[in-house]
Amino acid sequence: MRQIMTGKKFIRKIEDFTCEFCGKKVKGSGYTDHCPYCLFSKHVDLFPGDRKAKCKGLMEPLGVMKQKGKWRIYYRCLKCGRKRFNKVDSKDNWKMITALSANPLKLHGLN
Ligand SMILES: [Zn+2]
Ligand SMILES: [Zn+2]
Repeated sequence: MRQIMTGKKFIRKIEDFTCEFCGKKVKGSGYTDHCPYCLFSKHVDLFPGDRKAKCKGLMEPLGVMKQKGKWRIYYRCLKCGRKRFNKVDSKDNWKMITALSANPLKLHGLN
């Protein structure tokens, strides 16, 4: 993990990680919260970016939806079942996103 100081107080964390699902090495941009190849994420945040969740389960991408002109990926944690949305990153595999967009989302039960 590298840390970059931008200004006096704000610390942007840049974390490279190895995807636990497809095994590819992912270069962190500071905002990366999922694998751009297979789109799997990890349950590490209670709130986006805080890295405070103790679960650390793999989060499976179930579908995508467009909100206010931006695509979001809908995830469910394989370990604890928690559901959440993540923003799509410009580096993401658009073939995967297009494939996911073919799945109609069942949003009831989303907390
Ligand atoms: Zn992956
Ligand atoms: Zn979880």
